[in-house]
Amino acid sequence: MSSSIFYSISPRHPQAHSFVMRCLINDPDSAGQVVSLPSWIPGSYMIRDFAKNVTRINASAKGGGVPMEKLDKDSWRCDPCIGPLQIEYEVYAWDPSVRTARLDEAYGFFNGTSVFLRVHGKEESVCSVDIQPSDWCRENYWQVATGLDIKKIDSNGFGEYGSDNYDALIDYPVLMGALRRCPFKAGGVEHEMVLVGHFDLDEQRLTRDLAILCSHHINFFQSPAPMERYVFLVQVTTSGYGGLEHRNSSALMCSRDDLPVPGVEKMSDAYRTFLGLCSHEYFHSWNVKRIRPQAFVPYDLNHECYTRDLWVFEGITSYYDDQALCRCGLINAESYLELLGQTITRYLRTPGRRHQTLAESSFEAWTKFYKQDENAANAIVSYYTKGALVALCLDLQIRTETAGKKSLDDVMCLLWQRYGQTNEALPEGGAIAVVNEICGKSQDRFFDQALHSTAELPLQALLSGAGVVLNQRIAMNAQDKGGKEASETLPKVATGMRVQAENSTLRISHVLRDGPAQRAGLAPGDILVAIDNVQVSSKVLERLCQQKEPGDTIAVHLFRDSVLQLVNVVLAEPEADTAFLTMALVDADDKSVLWFH
Ligand code: ZN
Repeated sequence: MSSSIFYSISPRHPQAHSFVMRCLINDPDSAGQVVSLPSWIPGSYMIRDFAKNVTRINASAKGGGVPMEKLDKDSWRCDPCIGPLQIEYEVYAWDPSVRTARLDEAYGFFNGTSVFLRVHGKEESVCSVDIQPSDWCRENYWQVATGLDIKKIDSNGFGEYGSDNYDALIDYPVLMGALRRCPFKAGGVEHEMVLVGHFDLDEQRLTRDLAILCSHHINFFQSPAPMERYVFLVQVTTSGYGGLEHRNSSALMCSRDDLPVPGVEKMSDAYRTFLGLCSHEYFHSWNVKRIRPQAFVPYDLNHECYTRDLWVFEGITSYYDDQALCRCGLINAESYLELLGQTITRYLRTPGRRHQTLAESSFEAWTKFYKQDENAANAIVSYYTKGALVALCLDLQIRTETAGKKSLDDVMCLLWQRYGQTNEALPEGGAIAVVNEICGKSQDRFFDQALHSTAELPLQALLSGAGVVLNQRIAMNAQDKGGKEASETLPKVATGMRVQAENSTLRISHVLRDGPAQRAGLAPGDILVAIDNVQVSSKVLERLCQQKEPGDTIAVHLFRDSVLQLVNVVLAEPEADTAFLTMALVDADDKSVLWFH
């Protein structure tokens, strides 16, 4: 008898946000079949306990019902029985993100980690999935899009799909609904962006830009594309943002304002951000999905998997995502330098960079980066942001050491040849050896500092050697993301807190380490009432920072736990925590000398 595992899934109850599931096991474990759902999804390093969304589950075999015992938060054991064993269950799906599952009358989306039971002991069995349409789907012209292997489907994509094993099965998210399909070709491979939601779209421009971008990445790794087809699955919402990488697809969420619209040729900041997101997830097809860290081979999906190397997989990918837009001509050099300036600004505005190393940031991702609280800026540094800047430093350093003959590109290509194409896991710390090999000289001292200390990165010196000046200035206001010269009057003092407007009041969201607000005893959550006896607002606070001098004291009335308090805050000089980059070229027109061209 075949040892395949058969699944079926139906969006039968969109109003109840529930997928109706079935799992058929021909030859169940004679000692009692154990099944479970993963507790996390690869690419998003947080325990999410997907089994909590199973709202009903029961098993049956030839002789009738088979009792099931819940073993722990993630798993069940069926009583011993003669196969085939059938498990029917329902999964509640109402999480508006790319990491879980979502279903209503507008559309459905799911990751395999949220819905497909792992059949213990049979993880290597071939899997078959029947995606069944409900009457609702037929009446509303729903279609299905996924990277799963196609077996036998109808013209709308409902029907039978398959995968080689369980690990592969959960790497193919599925989008269903009234889909907008935008096909294009890149590197000789069929690609498609599939979108769902309410939006206006210049499809021609989108597919033209994506084809350029995807072709760039395929050429970057100097080999044929590693996938036979690729699909971007996009949920278009009002203000959503996010992405998750998979082997031959990615799940994205964007705002409808991020998409290009007919009649507007200008590159908006929002569309640039969206292309950067597509670039990031697509680059992951090589870096993390195929060049894989040892710690994830195999994935232990019921426990945290610890690695100090996320800077390689997220940092380097973040370095190349925006740079690729410039290299393939979708944005110009000035626009790229603005984005790089914004990345440096985010880094400079994180006091936590003086307290957590990059290796620690990666190792502690499960409890710190993914569970950020009001103290996060003081306590941690992002392995995306600092990782991208370490990649920048490495790139410039390698170019200097090799007199321009080699770069970080060569490191990535060697990693691809040695680990991606061979399917070998990259050992912990293994990227360092490859950098040293490409450089022809040990960079261990740089790595010791960059990964295992909180010393500042040598950005200024390396950028200046590459013809770019790193300028630092004071932030104009709370909206100032950096990347550009100041265009407004700069404040003369800093309060050392970040605030959020909430129903015509101001609430303190962050109190920065060792700043004026912290010294005065202000805390996140405090509601600001008045400063120097005048009712406070964002405008009042902004004006005050332009008029006062460092050393001046202000009287702050606030509510903490509904009790009125008065504290005196001694204002300080603002930090120059906002970066912008300018070109220092002899011939201003010759941008080809810049390293990112
Ligand atoms: Zn990423």
